[in-house]
Amino acid sequence: MHEPRTTMSRRDVLRTFGAGAALTAFSGVSLAGAQPAATAGRKRSIRVAHMTDPHIQPERDAVAGVAACLHHIQSQADKPALLLTGGDHVMDAFEEPFERADLQWKLLCKSFKDENSLPVRYCLGNHDIWGWNKGKSKTTGSESGWGKTMSLDRLELKKPYYSFDAGGWHFVVLDSIRVDPDDPNGYVGGLDDEQFEWLRGDLAANRTVNTLFLTHIPILSVSVLDTKVDKNMDMRVGGGVIYTDWPRVKRLMQENTQVKCVLSGHMHRIDRVEFLGVTHLCNGAVSANWWKGRHYETGEGYALVDLYDDGSVERQYVEFGWKARP
Ligand SMILES: [Zn+2]
Repeated sequence: MHEPRTTMSRRDVLRTFGAGAALTAFSGVSLAGAQPAATAGRKRSIRVAHMTDPHIQPERDAVAGVAACLHHIQSQADKPALLLTGGDHVMDAFEEPFERADLQWKLLCKSFKDENSLPVRYCLGNHDIWGWNKGKSKTTGSESGWGKTMSLDRLELKKPYYSFDAGGWHFVVLDSIRVDPDDPNGYVGGLDDEQFEWLRGDLAANRTVNTLFLTHIPILSVSVLDTKVDKNMDMRVGGGVIYTDWPRVKRLMQENTQVKCVLSGHMHRIDRVEFLGVTHLCNGAVSANWWKGRHYETGEGYALVDLYDDGSVERQYVEFGWKARP
């Protein structure tokens, strides 16, 4: 998460989401721990771990914190078959010069190489992108590795968005970070046109398979509404915390009812929104308050997500017992 650059008024949110939609979203919310009643006869397809927003850095013993999280996941008695990351692997590369970005990526890659033996799939976050804020990062944009290339290289990904199958489910990893059209040094949430068309094709080719989206910025979340209200009592939601192309993404999901679940990070908060047949889960943060302790209700943790053959989903948020270091 990052300070919002562009803002959407509450009126705009209601217009974008539709007043009825917003009400349904509110009424469908439940907090962490509360789960819908179990569905009889369903069978678990796969258990995955979702660890988002580790924000690794040399300070505050974050390297040991990430290792503690990875060990905790792997020591579960009912061990997940797959590890999904949720982006913001590094504290920040967006506003940092090469040396600092490079150092953090080296720490991240070493941690996963040395401390994890689960199959892992990575999703990019805003802080993973090197140098988009050219002023602060002192970059020009022509450096090797600039932008998303550094994270793709370090995570050995060909593209920032891709899909795969596991445990009878189809997984779609989305790249939710776009350049802010009003500020070339900033970002907003959503999909660019090329990725959107790819997603349309990928969903069309997998119509009969229960599908999960993995995204850094939430497609839908109520945590984003837990925000400052200005002097006119107008709620401001930044384009940096939600998909700015929500209307077309919503339509695409409605046309593809096999999409059952969306996992997100970015907010360092825990929420669950049931809307139009899709379960949207925002899954806290490994680093909680960026390694400074709890952030609202969120301690340092990760989510265990059980996906069932009937398309239903259960999530538990697991804190790994980290105590913030000075
Ligand atoms: Zn983020």
